[in-house]
Amino acid sequence: MANATPVRVRFCPSPTGNPHVGLIRTALFNWAYARHHKGTLVFRIEDTDAARDSEESYNQLLDSFHWLGFDWDEGPEVGGPHAPYRQSQRMDLYKDIAEKLLAAGHAYPCYCTTEELDERREAARKAGRPSGYDGTCRELTAEQKSAYEAEGRSSIVRFRMPDEPITFTDLVRGELTFTPDNVPDYGIVRANGAPLYTLVNPVDDALMGITHVLRGEDLLSSTPRQIALYKALIELGVASSIPAFGHLPYVMGEGNKKLSKRDPQASLNLYRERGFLPEGLLNYLALLGWSFSADQDIFSVSELIEKFEIEDVNANPARFDLKKAEAINADHIRQLDVEDFIKRCEPWLKAPFANWEPADFDEAAWRAIAPHAQTRLTVLSDITANVDFLFRKEPVEDEASWTKAMKGDPVALLTTARAKLAAADWNAGPEPLKEAVLAAGEEHGLKLGKAQAPVRVAVTGRTVGLPLFESLEVLGKERTIARIDAALAKLAG
Ligand code: GLU
Ligand code: ZN
Repeated sequence: MANATPVRVRFCPSPTGNPHVGLIRTALFNWAYARHHKGTLVFRIEDTDAARDSEESYNQLLDSFHWLGFDWDEGPEVGGPHAPYRQSQRMDLYKDIAEKLLAAGHAYPCYCTTEELDERREAARKAGRPSGYDGTCRELTAEQKSAYEAEGRSSIVRFRMPDEPITFTDLVRGELTFTPDNVPDYGIVRANGAPLYTLVNPVDDALMGITHVLRGEDLLSSTPRQIALYKALIELGVASSIPAFGHLPYVMGEGNKKLSKRDPQASLNLYRERGFLPEGLLNYLALLGWSFSADQDIFSVSELIEKFEIEDVNANPARFDLKKAEAINADHIRQLDVEDFIKRCEPWLKAPFANWEPADFDEAAWRAIAPHAQTRLTVLSDITANVDFLFRKEPVEDEASWTKAMKGDPVALLTTARAKLAAADWNAGPEPLKEAVLAAGEEHGLKLGKAQAPVRVAVTGRTVGLPLFESLEVLGKERTIARIDAALAKLAG
């Protein structure tokens, strides 16, 4: 399509609370769509709700997007032709447009009080009539308005919805029709003059030339309202055309309930703190409503960009599956180049995670064990417990592991294993160490798995960990033997 209009998409979060996975999935799809179509991604901050928005949350959004590797063509930090990109700095603009809508009759002042609205809604519900705004103030005369004002009533600005149905073709869901009963006139400016999301979001989409609005299904009900508002803006010369809309499916969490922003599972920070790689997390989030191919779940961000089409997004709710997210992340960890892996583990080898004396950290030992850790981690934070045996003077004391491993006659097994390990060749890789433990096991009628458990707990303190013989090799002969001796002393004690 050589002459197609250039794509302009946006992500426009409100800076409230911590970034959550739903928001990130929406940002990801917009980003992938923009990059796939060589379009423009506009990043806009919807901070018109002073009571809920915070600077801390704004900074967190930026920090999260940087961590994830998103970039944008217009918005905070980069500027652009439609600056400013924070709605809190665009208030005059909205005021001006609200006035134009009022003057043209597309909006009207509504003097109804909350109590009156509630009462009428209740009555309508009881009578089985539509319970949205009933149009009371639609056709007030100048006299009626002055009378209300003389009473001291304040007014909100309400948008006048057309009396015919609104039909549009959703890029994900196909053709949808909303009848007037379902979309009553709605407020666009509060009584105190503050413009609402219902106004500022489509106004900015219009002013910023957005061609495609890709957002969550929770916003589907605002789309017919926005289309009507767009038509009014076109008439006023503020907008030139109506964007296409695509609504991304809900994400379901535990118990098949909609994943809510407040679910701990939904918090982006949780995944970051656990040591998800941004590429692993993005890979997983892309699968919430989209798929790469029938037989491939693991892909890079550039592969995603190359293949992403909004038409391929599935309208059915997607299920958030933590186990799958972890498995995908583990795959991305394995794919890292080892130097990169070493670097990414760094934060977890320091305070507050490291449970050893910083001076006892041994760079050579870490580099030697790293490749063995890389193939086994699900999340990077697991690295600390997997390598602490190398850097602690003594292994961690984990009673549950000890009880589990020191069964049968651990003294006999450990005594034999100690002797055989002491006699083994420690300069020929892990194999001779394995032979030693295997032989010790045989003497006591134990298979390797059973023979290895007490040795592992004696040396690392834990029943699970990295491959044992590689671990022993890196720990070294002297420390291995000393730890077995310490375990024997404890067993004797
Ligand atoms: N600020 C809105 C939100 O956070 C944006 C919705 C939209 O994409 O239109 O939900
Ligand atoms: Zn009213």
